[in-house]
Amino acid sequence: MANFKTHIQISAISSGVLSTSLLGANFVNSVEAVLLWIVGTLGGVLPDVDSDNSTTLNILFGIITLLSITAVLSQLGVRVSTLEIWAVIAMVYGFVNWVVRPIFESYTVHRGIFHSLLAAVFLSVLSIVVAYEFTFLNTTMSWLVGFFIFIGYVTHLVLDELYSVDFSNVRVKRSFGTACKLYEYKNIQISLTMLLMAGGLFFIAPNTQGVKNTLLSKHTFVQIKDSFLPLALKS
Ligand SMILES: [Zn+2]
Repeated sequence: MANFKTHIQISAISSGVLSTSLLGANFVNSVEAVLLWIVGTLGGVLPDVDSDNSTTLNILFGIITLLSITAVLSQLGVRVSTLEIWAVIAMVYGFVNWVVRPIFESYTVHRGIFHSLLAAVFLSVLSIVVAYEFTFLNTTMSWLVGFFIFIGYVTHLVLDELYSVDFSNVRVKRSFGTACKLYEYKNIQISLTMLLMAGGLFFIAPNTQGVKNTLLSKHTFVQIKDSFLPLALKS
């Protein structure tokens, strides 16, 4: 199994190659390219949220804690004392880390549903919807966020699978086949639930047809290819 450091290095390289290609072809500006690079890199460590006490889980719950505190504080109004603000922060922190996190950990199995292509699709579509509905990003950027999460996620699954082959004496370890599955074969119920949720999210994702016509058009790929070499080298 590849460790956190390997995962973050490989996904930083692959999403860096992709985001700079989009920058070179003028599809995104430099700020958007950096954002996509970060998103793709995070996508590359996301599958390990299912392993308790992993660095990924710490990062994820750090983000959730921050967002929850922000959300609750924004609802407090102006007539609240400093002491009450501190009490609220402590309560939200405790709730997220000592109530929600143990529940999440008890329900997730390492190399369970989160190490599947179905989860990659689900979390990608989820991030498209979240990016579009809850941030300032437009339709195209929201879809690109989903695409980068997907690429990072799949890179992780493939890397885990590669690590289960012992190249020194070409032998396959017992973990082979557990990292990159289509869905969780051992739990059909949870797989079906995730499939339904992914379908539902896809339905509410912004302007699917428009994105298909622009991002997935032949013209886009030609433009990326054409902008690869410096002008001086092309004639
Ligand atoms: Zn993994």
